[in-house]
Amino acid sequence: NGERSSTGDEDPIVPLPQSNDHRWSDTSAYARKKVLQSWVQLPNGNWELGKILSTSGEESVIALPEGKVLKVKSETLVPANPDILDGVDDLMQLSYLNEPAVLYNLEYRYNQDMIYTKAGPVLVAVNPFKEVPLYGNRNIEAYRKRSNESPHVYAIADAAVREMIRDEVNQSIIISGESGAGKTETAKIAMQYLAALGGGSGIEYEILKTNPILEAFGNAKTLRNDNSSRFGKLIEIHFSETGKISGAKIQTSDIAFFLPLIFKFCSFTRKGKFLYIFFAASIFFMLSRVVQCAEGERSYHIFYQLCAGASPALREKLNLTSAKQYKYLKQSNCYSINGVDDAERFHAVKEALDIVHVSKEDQESVFAMLAAVLWLGNVSFTIIDNENHVEPEPDESLSTVAKLIGCNINELKLALSKRNMKVNNDTIVQKLTLSQAIDARDALAKSIYASLFDWLVEQINKSLAVGKRRTGRSISILDIYGFESFNRNSFEQFCINYANERLQQHFNRHLFKLEQEEYIQDGIDWTRVDFEDNQDCLSLFEKKPLGLLSLLDEESTFPNGTDLTLATKLKQHLNDNSCFRGDRGKAFTVAHYAGEVTYETTGFLEKNRDLLHLDSIQLLSSCSCHLPQAFASSMLIHSEKPVVGPLHKAGGADSQRLSVATKFKGQLFQLMQRLGNTTPHFIRCIKPNNVQSPGLYEQGLVLQQLRCCGVLEVVRISRSGFPTRMSHHKFARRYGFLLLENIAEKDPLSVSVAILHQFNILPEMYQVGYTKLFFRTGQIGVLEDTRNRT
Ligand code: ATP
Ligand code: MG
Repeated sequence: NGERSSTGDEDPIVPLPQSNDHRWSDTSAYARKKVLQSWVQLPNGNWELGKILSTSGEESVIALPEGKVLKVKSETLVPANPDILDGVDDLMQLSYLNEPAVLYNLEYRYNQDMIYTKAGPVLVAVNPFKEVPLYGNRNIEAYRKRSNESPHVYAIADAAVREMIRDEVNQSIIISGESGAGKTETAKIAMQYLAALGGGSGIEYEILKTNPILEAFGNAKTLRNDNSSRFGKLIEIHFSETGKISGAKIQTSDIAFFLPLIFKFCSFTRKGKFLYIFFAASIFFMLSRVVQCAEGERSYHIFYQLCAGASPALREKLNLTSAKQYKYLKQSNCYSINGVDDAERFHAVKEALDIVHVSKEDQESVFAMLAAVLWLGNVSFTIIDNENHVEPEPDESLSTVAKLIGCNINELKLALSKRNMKVNNDTIVQKLTLSQAIDARDALAKSIYASLFDWLVEQINKSLAVGKRRTGRSISILDIYGFESFNRNSFEQFCINYANERLQQHFNRHLFKLEQEEYIQDGIDWTRVDFEDNQDCLSLFEKKPLGLLSLLDEESTFPNGTDLTLATKLKQHLNDNSCFRGDRGKAFTVAHYAGEVTYETTGFLEKNRDLLHLDSIQLLSSCSCHLPQAFASSMLIHSEKPVVGPLHKAGGADSQRLSVATKFKGQLFQLMQRLGNTTPHFIRCIKPNNVQSPGLYEQGLVLQQLRCCGVLEVVRISRSGFPTRMSHHKFARRYGFLLLENIAEKDPLSVSVAILHQFNILPEMYQVGYTKLFFRTGQIGVLEDTRNRT
């Protein structure tokens, strides 16, 4: 880096060194230049801003705030930006781009409730954990008119709309971040903006009202977030300029064949705009929360809301008691959330259900199903023989469940104590042991809950559905659980982190790789920038036959497979992989892009095996209430369809079933495919503290998240590249009419060059490629503004 030019003695700003160190402690720049202020790392790891008093030899003397003076090694100092750059709204504008500078800039803004900051093309959102005056119609209007241009989710949503129209390409807004970072809130804010464009009231209002319903049924209090989403959500909103109303239809995608809970579609129209909504609902394993919940966490909100808010008449009908009486809710010893009134929320959910046209009668059925799940948890078993076989206790809980789902009590008893097995063409009846019976009971509870969620999404979609077929262009908003790394990590984290690994690749590929490839392909001058690809880690998961998913599936089909044999097998086959490390006992470690995570294989095989029991489907289909019947028929449709995609090769009658991990992979591929055809806009949510409290900014925690999601890398690359590009043809067509001289007959390249000259765009700000023009950030703005004024 030695020959980079300096900017003159009076100017403390040094150009950014082209360092390959991803942390850019750009001390080399510091050494060459007199810097007045500098970052000093304190023993606790935090960075503090200090004034350099003197430098002699290897050491410098630094004055810290509060009068402290420190002597430190000069090479450990990291240069600080001049005050004038405090709180810039795009990190790209920082002269020194190092970790403390970025941390400080975000904190400076955060302290003034400016929670949004651009990092080149990415929007960084720091969770304020309090209300901030940035939203609502006045603000929406300001972003629409572009009278406010500071970074915002609204600006991202607005850019998506504009680019959708300008480029005729579908758009996506991909929101990521850790649990509690603010993804769901951010998705709602983006929806708010798009809904406001849709025309004002009516159907847009309905769309927004889907949020409280989905949250009541799909979110729960966890140790990290009082309102944690336990399902991934993709909402696709469709726009068309033709504005033709096209009737009602719900479509199901191909994936329906092999997913238990499926992607639902709905379309609706309003005021000349055709909108379309798409939900990717419930990922199977997230259901375990219904029957099992860790200390201090809660099951899904709706259970507590029902127990707290049901009217006396409903209570009596459902034989409802308090949350504390239900074993499923009792086990985690946590019933309420600070500042949340569950009874009040219950009424809000009922109102929202009214708005999306779920009839009172259906609502009552929904509540009956919830009560049935709760009462199922209270069903207990007695041992009836010396082989440990059991029968359910014929008590209040059993009879209430039977009554609520509308089945014969003896059939319920049978479903909970016996299992029909198909061997060749014969059916044999197997009695269940205690643990098998508990599994069967929990599986039934989960199927009911899953079907209920699915059914609800379908009802919502129906209510919103006015359009027949989707046409035109769309904007998808993806709100999906972020990377998770806990002290103990299990199958859930395994799947979630795998999904994030894929999303990260999408991010990388989009922002770095494709970009560079495009420069090279178009023959423009570009020095390659290295970036971290995570393909090795993805291969570790996906390689066949020796990858994590294949080996897991294989072991799941072996009757004698256990978590320990799985761990041993993984070690045996994968220890050579640089992203894998076998650990002691049943554990293994994966080197993810965001850091190492150690997984305990305990429960992996069981969770990976499909839980769908035909007996519970049969039971539900025999019920007299319409909801369980609807559930059963939808489950049967999914299980009877010939399964496409990767299948288990080994095994007997169950070989047609897909493991949970394989389904998850299928779902993920489908998702990536959808996203692959869109122009992505990325929002990275950051959680400034772990205690969900306003005003508290923990540097270490923020830094770790910034590193995880590659924000710093993005800024560095974007700043040195040409992120905006347009084909000669498009450029000429779009701005050609602004030309003062008439060269309409000329070829697009000549027209383009003439435009560039007329607008005095500096040569270092653009490059002309074989087919496209490439611009540094912010260059197209002038042209767009002129165009919009004309
Ligand atoms: P999970 O992965 O667990 O679902 P998440 O990233 O979706 O987490 P949210 O539920 O969106 O996190 O946010 C957690 C909490 O943070 C919210 O309940 C809210 O209190 C607060 N919060 C997030 N974003 C904002 C915001 N823009 N303004 C005010 N509060 C916010
Ligand atoms: Mg969420």
